[in-house]
Amino acid sequence: MKPTPCPSCQQTMTKHRFERLLHGEVILDMCFSCQGIWFDEFESVQITPGGIVDLFKLLHEHHDDQRIPLRDPLKCPRCNEKLLHGLDVAKHGGQFNYHRCLQKHGRFTTFAQFMIEKGFVRQLNPAEIDELSAKVGIIRCMGCGAPVDIRKDHACGHCRAPITILEPSAVEQALSRYQHAEVRRTTRDVEALGDAIVMREREKSRQKRLKQEPENAGIIDAIDLLAAGAEFVWTLIKR
Ligand SMILES: [Zn+2]
Ligand SMILES: [Zn+2]
Ligand SMILES: [Zn+2]
Repeated sequence: MKPTPCPSCQQTMTKHRFERLLHGEVILDMCFSCQGIWFDEFESVQITPGGIVDLFKLLHEHHDDQRIPLRDPLKCPRCNEKLLHGLDVAKHGGQFNYHRCLQKHGRFTTFAQFMIEKGFVRQLNPAEIDELSAKVGIIRCMGCGAPVDIRKDHACGHCRAPITILEPSAVEQALSRYQHAEVRRTTRDVEALGDAIVMREREKSRQKRLKQEPENAGIIDAIDLLAAGAEFVWTLIKR
């Protein structure tokens, strides 16, 4: 099978097998540094609930991978032409974007945009943003990756994308559409997610202290709500 250079960083993407909904399996190319997936076919692939659980497992395993910003322009891994920006509306609401090859070689989408496309993400209302901002200050925009200080802004200052989270109950709904694994219900998603992020960050700085790494005093990393949400969903669905 042909290696696929990442449309952004040009490193070879890793291949992962996922169960396809009607029959067989599909192999997708992923880059965890760029947080993106390359689809050789243009159409959105229908992955089974088992495949979606596998995807969350991968996000969980690569939670601490180094992230790099996407390059502009992105290049098609097959013909090296510039990828074109596309915008679409998800079946269950919400806009998502992707980058496609004009020669129909395929499309590149970020994990965050894929989650929106699959209906796993929902927009936070102002009260929920306030609640989350008591625990988490700066997050990374799911649309463009720019840092957003949610204590001040309720949308991304760069791309105007609203503040969204991966919602366990939305993941549950998507999975149960196919009568599959139950995700434990939580009525206090935002509070629980905020707590999970605080715990995780505390654990990270404890590990750093143990390893005697410098703490980068004063520099606050933007919290990736997608990665944190994927981690949170993973703790709910793993058995
Ligand atoms: Zn990459
Ligand atoms: Zn191409
Ligand atoms: Zn943005």
